[in-house]
Amino acid sequence: MTFEELGLLPELLKAVADAGYSEPTPIQAQAIPVVLDGKDVMGGAQTGTGKTAGFVLPLLQRLARHASTSPSPARHPVRALILTPTRELAMQVHESVQTYGKYIPLRDLVVYGGVDIKPQTEALRRGVEIVVATPGRLLDHVQQKSVNFNSVEVLVLDEADRMLDMGFIPDIKRILAMLPKERQSLLFSATFSEEIKKLADTMLKAPVLIEVARRNAVTETVTHRMHPVDQDNKRQLLAHLLKTSSLKQVLVFVGTKFGASRLAHYLEKQGIEATAIHGDKSQQQRTEALDDFKSGKARVLVATDVAARGLDIDDLPHVINFELPHVPEDYVHRIGRTGRAGKEGDATSLVCAEERGKLAEIEKLIKRPIEQVVVPGFEPGSDFSGPVEKRRGRGGRTEKGEDRSEKSEKSSSPRREPRSRERDDAGRERREPRRVEPAKAKLPKLDFDPSKPYESRGSSTDTAATETKRSHHRPKRPVPALLGGLPKAEPEK
Ligand code: AMP
Repeated sequence: MTFEELGLLPELLKAVADAGYSEPTPIQAQAIPVVLDGKDVMGGAQTGTGKTAGFVLPLLQRLARHASTSPSPARHPVRALILTPTRELAMQVHESVQTYGKYIPLRDLVVYGGVDIKPQTEALRRGVEIVVATPGRLLDHVQQKSVNFNSVEVLVLDEADRMLDMGFIPDIKRILAMLPKERQSLLFSATFSEEIKKLADTMLKAPVLIEVARRNAVTETVTHRMHPVDQDNKRQLLAHLLKTSSLKQVLVFVGTKFGASRLAHYLEKQGIEATAIHGDKSQQQRTEALDDFKSGKARVLVATDVAARGLDIDDLPHVINFELPHVPEDYVHRIGRTGRAGKEGDATSLVCAEERGKLAEIEKLIKRPIEQVVVPGFEPGSDFSGPVEKRRGRGGRTEKGEDRSEKSEKSSSPRREPRSRERDDAGRERREPRRVEPAKAKLPKLDFDPSKPYESRGSSTDTAATETKRSHHRPKRPVPALLGGLPKAEPEK
């Protein structure tokens, strides 16, 4: 199959050739003809499969008839809306629109929060055919009346499952209600939970289902390994692993925004060039961090799941999970950027006693045991062989919205020395690596079916997830009596 055979315009073929693509990926081969045909699509594909070109190329082709060099805003109404859950993904999709559309004079714009709204407002007023947006900021523009959806012909919802996780579905529904009924809609999601199917029912008409294999456990070129270690020794072990290896471009995952900054700072102090990326950083800081990492200026990028989602880093060979993710599917997302296109990659996890339940869930999901290797000098304490704590839910948050891993760090006991080591006849410490038997016999009973797609239970896995949530989602606080008593509960707008 070639791009020519898909019936793309010469302008698009030229752009694709410029990008260096020789043939369509499976999702592109399947999606492009269907989208060109004007049909709705429910696409099951993750980032890294080439799905962006799968919808951007045919979308550009369908809108090409509107291309105009007229300066009049009236000649450039919004024709296509692409919604993404994060700023990073919005930027990347926008970059793709520009890359593939460079020979077609359609106007495009990306709008996301955390940056000055004025330049976006001005660009919208000048007229733009393709808008890539995060939902919150788009609604701000709706409120300001700087955008009009009357001429929207195509809607794309990218990473719908992540939108759901991040609590954006009410915003999406608000936007859907403003769009013309006659339109083409495309929904992409890595997983199809009941909630996603419900959303698809409300926004798609007779959709064509397109699915490409999930790039999870089937990526045979990724080596999985875990190092059992005490929570208190994790930072030292990470520094040790980085110092004693020549690993370049290491993506380190942590559970919280605070943890990301703190860990990057610690590594810097240890002489390891590191940078952090998370939701509290300004857009410019995030872009700089990513550029430093891509250029090799920073050897290590410490990231939260949400911030790392959709990062366009090709062929990343090493992923280290400083903390295991709260939901096992995120392990698959995290390692999804290693071992691409048959290249070798490795995923290393630092696992403390409390995380063994999560480890068991991950092993079950990826259908293989993860090799356990004890690093000499970092042997875990005796609690590692104790009973596995049963996990109550899959949300990973305490009632206060605090991340559990963060909490456990805060409440952890004063630094403990690594467990005393065995000594040889001469009294020297024995330092050979020792295998620890996987704690399989004590696997917790799972309260979900890991072979089924992940269904959110209403809590996000990352505090960064709430970063762009709009204030009207927050529950109203009771007002003290001195203001005249408690106000009446207001219905959600
Ligand atoms: P995506 O899944 O859309 O984020 O794409 C992942 C990466 O694949 C991006 O860096 C694209 O530039 C690249 N890509 C997309 N389509 C192709 C193709 N047909 N051949 C080679 N690389 C591609």
